Amino acid sequence: MVIKVYARAKINLTLDVLGKRPDGYHQVETVMQSIELHDCLEFTPLEDGVSLTVAGGEVPSGADNLVYRAALLMRKLAGDKKGISIKLNKNIPVAAGLGGGSADAAATLSALNEIWGIHLPARDLLSLGEKLGSDVPFCLLGGTALAGGRGELLESLPPCPRMGLVLVKPSFGVSTASVYRAYDSCPSGKRPGTVAMIKAIGERDIDCIVQNLANVLEIATISMHPEIAGIKKRLLEAGALGVLMSGSGPTVFGVTADLEAARAVADRYPNCGERVLATETFNPERS
Ligand code: ATP
Repeated sequence: MVIKVYARAKINLTLDVLGKRPDGYHQVETVMQSIELHDCLEFTPLEDGVSLTVAGGEVPSGADNLVYRAALLMRKLAGDKKGISIKLNKNIPVAAGLGGGSADAAATLSALNEIWGIHLPARDLLSLGEKLGSDVPFCLLGGTALAGGRGELLESLPPCPRMGLVLVKPSFGVSTASVYRAYDSCPSGKRPGTVAMIKAIGERDIDCIVQNLANVLEIATISMHPEIAGIKKRLLEAGALGVLMSGSGPTVFGVTADLEAARAVADRYPNCGERVLATETFNPERS
């Protein structure tokens, strides 16, 4: 029996840094959105032990992989000797600002909660996710949400209207820690209007969502990688309605009216060696 699960990436429609906490973490305020782009995980129950194989991405296959760490946390809770073999098919670009590792960790926690019959309530799963990474709780929740604290304090928002997205990932990755260091040494950039963004989402007004796209970390990442400014310009020239860097970067997303328009913009985009993907926003059905 093989159980297949999707782990969806995220983008940040706004990202603000409100300050630095005594524990060294930054306090953020960010409107997060799940997107269709996903990794695929295959779980096959075993007699005992945890094994992980990775296909299609440059990520660790051993104990440093967030999937492996999530599986060990769940195995402790499962009590009995439990076993699982996991195949991770990577499709989400790595170290890209798209939360790929967090998405995989969240998918693993949810899947093993079911497969091993642990029945951990949602709030406990969220706390467990927080131990693995600040974006894991959002990935467990999915959809559209406002995140605060280190990213773990979540408030679900009404679903964002469906929008097309063109993702442009340069050939390099960035480390989130280095971006925050650059931001701390020169905190500048357009502060987002988070309230205006939430209103625009509630009113399902794509033009207004586009006008309120803002990420305070963008200038810090561009100071290290000026190519990102060129990507933004070319995406706009190719027909995106608005463009923004996601998270700590370096991926830039362009917003379009729908998936078809995203495909057209991706075709027109003058590629300079980047990975270009057309996708769309994703909101799970809520019962
Ligand atoms: P964040 O902004 O949360 O740091 P990101 O989207 O920029 O995340 P990820 O793709 O999650 O970046 O990768 C960040 C680091 O995590 C990489 O250096 C990678 O080696 C490590 N990592 C561990 N497990 C995974 C995984 N399953 N998928 C991707 N990266 C992983």
